[in-house]
Amino acid sequence: MTHRVTLIPGDGIGPEVAFAAQRCIEATGVKIKWDEQPAGESAIEKYGTPLPESTLQSVRDNGVAIKGPVTTPIGTGFRSVNVALRKQLNLFACVRPCRSFEGVKSPFENVDLVIVRENTEDLYAGIEFAAGEPNTVQLIKQLQEWSKQSIQPDSGISIKPISTTGVERIAKYAFEYALAHGRKKVTAIHKANIMKFTDGLFMSVSRRVAQSYAGRVEFEDRLVDATCMQLVLRPQDFDILVLPNLYGDILSDLCAGLIGGLGIAPGANIGEKAALFEAVHGSAPKYKGLNKVNPTAMILSGVLMLEHLGEEEAAGRLRAAVEAVLKEGRSVTYDLKTDRNDPTAVGTKEMTDAIIAKMKTHSVAVG
Ligand code: NAD
Repeated sequence: MTHRVTLIPGDGIGPEVAFAAQRCIEATGVKIKWDEQPAGESAIEKYGTPLPESTLQSVRDNGVAIKGPVTTPIGTGFRSVNVALRKQLNLFACVRPCRSFEGVKSPFENVDLVIVRENTEDLYAGIEFAAGEPNTVQLIKQLQEWSKQSIQPDSGISIKPISTTGVERIAKYAFEYALAHGRKKVTAIHKANIMKFTDGLFMSVSRRVAQSYAGRVEFEDRLVDATCMQLVLRPQDFDILVLPNLYGDILSDLCAGLIGGLGIAPGANIGEKAALFEAVHGSAPKYKGLNKVNPTAMILSGVLMLEHLGEEEAAGRLRAAVEAVLKEGRSVTYDLKTDRNDPTAVGTKEMTDAIIAKMKTHSVAVG
């Protein structure tokens, strides 16, 4: 069977790592008809917008996309192409597995946790009011009247909506993910002691959803600040973390740090009608075109995509090849060397070549 997949190369280092992932996926032998589409800075010149309707339509039609990181353009009225993509396609769950790899230097061993981040609500909803604008002044007046609290008149305001519907959906997703992947525990993260009506709702709805999984998946909830400390002391205590959007964003990078950096942290954005796979990292513009950065995060995002397409065997082969190259530690990029100036570090292309070569020798050994 031939799958249809939208490929969005993105900006900065995006094309280098996205095409590296595409090469690895093709090398598995899985048949894919690629539909390359622009987004980000590269789309503005031709389409006058960083997120053309044709790109969105391609993802809607194909149902699956893999995307390099895009730079957030300043002054286009777009807060972020990524946020817009996730909202427009209703990709409500952001799933980021975080696992230690043998051979990768990191502060911890045996980390194996999954971030499940709500992707559509919270302070990321983009409902903001600039300081000094007439609407903001009016809003401040109204808020002061309702809350009986004083607010500086020259404040900017960002709105944090968190809904029962949104929390139910993401909490259920986290529990179902746990069941499907043989995981034991879900931890809901919040700051309910301070934000009683948003994080408080996240906590109470998560607790309610947890009841229908009692006896099958353990549940606990924790404060986000305490969780940050516990993560850097005992990351092995965590299994699946379910979080509102902003905490999910911050803890994703923290957890990437636990396993050795952004270069190896993959991700998936999942909705009911579409799924979009991308690395946790951004477009790192200073490294654009230098054949320098680590393609692993994008390649592992490709592994997640193959699993989503039902190509588990190919996904397993590609993952094993990545693991073998990381374990050997020879054909790896600068960020995986103990000394970042190590002259034996290879480029993006050479690391990709090594992974493809490893997959071929592994296949021969197996076959
Ligand atoms: P970034 O992740 O692009 O880079 C931060 C640093 O992390 C880099 O300077 C580099 O040292 C390291 N790094 C990142 N990817 C790496 C890789 N593959 N291999 C080795 N090292 C790597 O974050 P930033 O500088 O804050 O953001 C740059 C741009 O990317 C911004 O415009 C931001 O909005 C955008 N961004 C996009 C996405 C996305 O498309 N999903 C995600 C995050 C940030």
